[in-house]
Amino acid sequence: MTCVFCEIIKKEAKAEIVYEDEKILGFKNIHPEAPVHLLFVPKKHIQWNDEFNEKDLELLSKLISAAKKVAAEIKINDAYKMIFNVGKTGHILHIHLHLLGGWENDAPLHNI
Ligand SMILES: [Zn+2]
Repeated sequence: MTCVFCEIIKKEAKAEIVYEDEKILGFKNIHPEAPVHLLFVPKKHIQWNDEFNEKDLELLSKLISAAKKVAAEIKINDAYKMIFNVGKTGHILHIHLHLLGGWENDAPLHNI
């Protein structure tokens, strides 16, 4: 099965990359739902399923840490949201963390 995030990681699909280290890639969402909408993915294809194990939790903390770092760098760290979509949400299955922010006034109160 083709995974667009794996293609981006392998640089086979284009993305505007905002963060990269050995294990994590961060890039702009092509369908932004906020003034700033970034996605952070582990370079290893993992999904929220039974194969997901304790070891992968370390990757999740790295995702959060990368998003936090970028939020500070681009100065949206006064108000931002981090979201994981799990299961049949219509999202790409490769685990990814949404970082949303950059609102001019207060952050929207709804949960997405
Ligand atoms: Zn993937």
